[in-house]
Amino acid sequence: MSSRKKLIAGNWKMNKTSADALALVADIVTAVGRQTDVEVVVCPPFTSLEKVAAELEGSTVKLGAQNMHQEASGAFTGEISAPMLRAIFATHVILGHSERRAYFGETDALVNKKVISALKNQLRPILCVGETLAEREAGSTLKVVQTQVEAGLEGVSKELAASVVIAYEPVWAIGTGKVATTEQAQEVHAFIRGLLVKLFGDTVATKVRILYGGSMKPSNAPELLAQKDIDGGLIGGASLEARSFVELVTAAAAIK
Ligand code: PEP
Repeated sequence: MSSRKKLIAGNWKMNKTSADALALVADIVTAVGRQTDVEVVVCPPFTSLEKVAAELEGSTVKLGAQNMHQEASGAFTGEISAPMLRAIFATHVILGHSERRAYFGETDALVNKKVISALKNQLRPILCVGETLAEREAGSTLKVVQTQVEAGLEGVSKELAASVVIAYEPVWAIGTGKVATTEQAQEVHAFIRGLLVKLFGDTVATKVRILYGGSMKPSNAPELLAQKDIDGGLIGGASLEARSFVELVTAAAAIK
């Protein structure tokens, strides 16, 4: 069994009003809010973070945000900073999601600044990396992932690197129902683990959780989660209903 505790994180994206978010998180807390076998994180939209935080109090479920600005404060209309997230007891933040990269022009350099800022403020970044379909078909998957991992983690110290979470999310598998095969996913996860060894050494690389994301659901999760270097999932669609999300946590807990 891996020494890394499995992590299941729900990315609710731009879904759920505050009332909907509260209802969903209440069901999640009831079902998995006491167990400690799997680390569970929910990432609601900014508008419901604070209410969800209150609902999570006293449970083992943790709070994450879906993005943040790299600066701590200032004239950045519409943005939210790492200290603001810490102040409402968020512990995680998704950074560099492919939707942020594709629709909001986030570059590796910007994502790196956000990673540094998150770590400085005791937030665990969930750094998302992954290739597009065109990149996979061109045979450049590993090169793309290498660039995103190396650039995203530039300047991160060995001490802080262990608290980073990496999410390998092939862009062609996100929200499409097309899931990477276990072999495709494990190959990239093992490659990322090898990169981490080169960047930070064995001890750190052994500690870093590498999640798979891209149409993960209860039917395909057991096989993916059983892979040696797949330490959990970043879940979009299947995190929007308590039942499927809880089933994913249960699937992760069943891996020995
Ligand atoms: C995601 O966007 O992080 C994701 C994995 O989405 P989905 O599970 O819907 O493919």
